[in-house]
Amino acid sequence: MRLTVIGTGYLGAVHAACMADIGHDVLGVDVDAAKVADLAEGRPPFYEPGFEDVLTRALDSGRLRFTTDLREAAAHGEVHFICVGTPQQAGSRAADLRYVDAVVDGLAPHLSAPCLVVGKSTVPVGTTARLAARVAHLAPPGVRVDVAWNPEFLREGFAVDDTLRPDRIVVGVTGGEADETLRRVYAPMLAAGVPYIDTDPNTAELVKVAANSFLATKISFINAMAEVCDAADADVVTLADALGHDTRIGRQFLNAGLGFGGGCLPKDIRAFSARAQELGAGPAVAFLDEVDAINQRQRTRTVELARRLLGGDLTDRRVTVLGATFKPDSDDVRDSPALAVAAELQRQGAQVRVHDPEGAAKAGLAHPQLRCSADLLTACQGAELVLHLTEWGLYRTLDPVKLARVVRTPLLVDGRNALPHDVWRAAGWTVKGLGRPAPRPEPRSAAPTTETLRTVIASMAAAGPDASAVPASALHVGPVGGR
Ligand code: NAD
Repeated sequence: MRLTVIGTGYLGAVHAACMADIGHDVLGVDVDAAKVADLAEGRPPFYEPGFEDVLTRALDSGRLRFTTDLREAAAHGEVHFICVGTPQQAGSRAADLRYVDAVVDGLAPHLSAPCLVVGKSTVPVGTTARLAARVAHLAPPGVRVDVAWNPEFLREGFAVDDTLRPDRIVVGVTGGEADETLRRVYAPMLAAGVPYIDTDPNTAELVKVAANSFLATKISFINAMAEVCDAADADVVTLADALGHDTRIGRQFLNAGLGFGGGCLPKDIRAFSARAQELGAGPAVAFLDEVDAINQRQRTRTVELARRLLGGDLTDRRVTVLGATFKPDSDDVRDSPALAVAAELQRQGAQVRVHDPEGAAKAGLAHPQLRCSADLLTACQGAELVLHLTEWGLYRTLDPVKLARVVRTPLLVDGRNALPHDVWRAAGWTVKGLGRPAPRPEPRSAAPTTETLRTVIASMAAAGPDASAVPASALHVGPVGGR
């Protein structure tokens, strides 16, 4: 089928490449000419595992092209997917729909044959109906254009797999023809048994924001428990494990820590709350404001913990933040909790260095005042406090014995409760996690005389004053594993 994918960001670029991969003839459209040029050359404009492969495969097949021209898109597509951003409006909690509206306004007048416009962006309930009226007004007389909504549930870090093998496909349609068209688009997924839920547009739009609200609530629930655990000197990880054994609750999304961020969950729960209020259903989702407040509080709590551990004053203290992205396996730094904490520590006087294996460049652009680097050793050298704030797999393979020789003080805040605290303590570190019992005095480990330690010292000596020349693997247990 001839598809267009309008808006080729984290969602649209992956959708476009995957649709071509399953056999469709796809034209990707974006207003960002540099992004279009990169994609057309097979250069992913963002880090997403597996994306480069599927992009290259799709380009090589001849079934994927990119353009900035909406007229070309109008002429190409039987189905037009809208994948542009729907950020939070400045000065309001509501979604900013200007990009979605611009696509409809730019596309509809050029349509010359019957087609289906399908939104994938996350939008407030009622958007499909509003846009259908807009399209009917703008499309040339006699050209039948249907509008449907097909919300996207992909997770950054798993975007390719989630697109090719989704948990479910939800479509909000007003007629059987649109439903038939979407069943043809997703035929390989349906053949593989992926559940397909066809419903009305309002329900489809709500499924997406309800799903994100549930996930956000689960995270904030366990973080609220972490706050109570901190007050009661109890352990939130054991508590979560015990809760998780109950199959009605489940262990997923019960990892207490710094909380959620990114380009979706925070703005989606706020937009949902704002839209519910417009509909007179505000009290039904008032709890989302509390979910948001709990989530924001984890950032403040982490900064306060850092300040406390450094004796109450951050001025000129050397702090290293491990992780800049809002989650591992992505370079997306939008509303990143790790960066928010790093920026606040810096604002309070600390000398902050941020490490991230993939997001350092974007973090540096978003926060020019922070020193961001992809070199672990440089980032950690001389640190008086290390904060683990994004749970990249890379950090789980760090050797705490080796790292203890690089920092000034072996003091760790594990903001994700994802590192083996016992192992770090045995290596001489003082470790604090959110919602974990206060660290008890641990016997310092004997002077580290392991082979690995000799290796790191030797390699540092060989490197001389330019520590960045030391391979990152020098700080890891065995070979550096996955990111
Ligand atoms: P993004 O910012 O990465 O991408 C949006 C793209 O749209 C950008 O490349 C931008 O240049 C382009 N654009 C803006 N206006 C345009 C126009 N008029 N014509 C053509 N292109 C235009 O955003 P994203 O993360 O891909 O999210 C897009 C939507 O998908 C949002 O509604 C988001 O909530 C939703 N969503 C995102 C994810 C995710 O993991 N990123 C998952 C599910 C749903």
